[in-house]
Amino acid sequence: MKREELIEKISDKSKIWDMVVIGGGATGLGIALDAALRGYSVALFELDDFAKSTSSRSTKLVHGGVRYLQKGDVALVREALTERGRLRNNAPHLVKDQSFVIPNYTHLDNFIYTCGLTLYDILSWGGLSLGRSLFIPKRKTSRCLPTITKKGLKGGVIYHDGQFDDSRLAINIAQSCAENGGCPINHMKVSGILHDEKGRVAGVKVIDNETGKEYSVRSKSTINATGCFVDDIIKMDVPSSTRMVKPSQGVHLVFDKSFLNSDYAPRSVCCSVA
Ligand SMILES: Cc1cc2nc3c(=O)[nH]c(=O)nc-3n(C[C@H](O)[C@H](O)[C@H](O)COP(=O)(O)OP(=O)(O)OC[C@H]3O[C@@H](n4cnc5c(N)ncnc54)[C@H](O)[C@@H]3O)c2cc1C
Repeated sequence: MKREELIEKISDKSKIWDMVVIGGGATGLGIALDAALRGYSVALFELDDFAKSTSSRSTKLVHGGVRYLQKGDVALVREALTERGRLRNNAPHLVKDQSFVIPNYTHLDNFIYTCGLTLYDILSWGGLSLGRSLFIPKRKTSRCLPTITKKGLKGGVIYHDGQFDDSRLAINIAQSCAENGGCPINHMKVSGILHDEKGRVAGVKVIDNETGKEYSVRSKSTINATGCFVDDIIKMDVPSSTRMVKPSQGVHLVFDKSFLNSDYAPRSVCCSVA
């Protein structure tokens, strides 16, 4: 994947691409790879480096959306578990099993979480399970999580989800996209939207951040996959549009391994993990 060669491809002014994707995070790269595999000509432009934004700052979990089970959205959980299993099968160098333990302080929670997490595992049928969910008595729970509060502990439930390297996955997807004829280029800022004679979106203007050179890239369809920057792109097309996204902030706290002293990850039932 050579940047100069990819830039050469977009320099051809006569070319009309099937698709231009704006944004080289998980969403944009996934779309570009999918399009390339289906035989469409696709160019992707990323302002900074691939996955520089949210896509390299996740909690690094490939999960089946266990918390959506609480809300009864079984179809969504099945879909997410299927994708989790596919990702583990397709990219075993990036996805590994992570065992979680939910410590319970009431017998009712023991019952609820054993049933719920057994269902979570059953929903990954078809060889996509990462490991069985199991009730464990309180002594084993405190062996798995030696630093948790022992007072009032009634037991726990072990279940499994995936852990992954988000930025390496993004780079691998960009590589696969390029290998399949796609044209993902980093350090390229989309600076404007092109329109056809009927006023419809017909491509983008991009500036190479390394050379300052501007390119006009025409396309049959243009996808805005810029995550929390989505409104900035929409405003390039419709300056009067109202903003859809409001900024918010999440915080990751990183602890020394000695804080937990275990390979099991604790999961609290009162707060959500992304
Ligand atoms: C705190 C937190 C924890 C999370 N944990 C997990 C997790 O454990 N597991 C999980 O699966 N998901 C997790 N997520 C969700 C996941 O990280 C996001 O859904 C995903 O990264 C979004 O990717 P994206 O491509 O839509 O956006 P982004 O990664 O933000 O990509 C958008 C890209 O568009 C580019 N861009 C913007 N403007 C332009 C322009 N003018 N020209 C060209 N490019 C432009 C940006 O540089 C950026 O790289 C988490 C999210 C958060 C916030």
